[in-house]
Amino acid sequence: MSDVLAELHAAVRIVPDFPKPGIMFKDITPVLGDARLFASATAGMLAPWRGQGITHVVAIESRGFLFGAPMAAALGAGLVPVRKPGKLPFRRIREDYALEYGTDALEMHADALGAGASVLVVDDVLATGGTAGAACTLVERSGARVAGIGVFIDLRFLGGHARLAPRRVEGLLTYE
Ligand code: AMP
Repeated sequence: MSDVLAELHAAVRIVPDFPKPGIMFKDITPVLGDARLFASATAGMLAPWRGQGITHVVAIESRGFLFGAPMAAALGAGLVPVRKPGKLPFRRIREDYALEYGTDALEMHADALGAGASVLVVDDVLATGGTAGAACTLVERSGARVAGIGVFIDLRFLGGHARLAPRRVEGLLTYE
């Protein structure tokens, strides 16, 4: 592992039993709060996608916004927020998805992407892949193409890759 990846790994704070018992929460705020580490994190997340013709970054509420916005600016791409229900003001499309207990939903503006768009979906953490999968489905339902999914932290052992296959997934930090 490179020095900078080791530093980023060390900076992610693991908070046990948040927000509920059994979850080992990956707290990225120490990375965000350090100018050099935050720049390294976004640069590392960007690297696989440079020169890939990305026209839009779709960022998932809410921590996906934190990485997605600087990545869109650096790629010269548009930024499209995917949000929890009831937050977006205009005409929306909605995708429901299963959680471990119950369901959740995400929404996107219906006119945010056109047929020619090539989209990078961004979030902070990939766990089971339900959230990113729902965002990909919204992109594909709007007629655009998912070029791939970029995350800061990939919790490989939770099976997100399989759920998102055959789409390309790139995570900067991997937990096996
Ligand atoms: P999933 O849909 O299971 O892939 O969960 C991904 C979403 O839940 C992302 O938006 C993450 O921000 C959040 N998430 C899931 N597990 C964790 C974790 N261990 N630490 C921090 N965030 C998590």
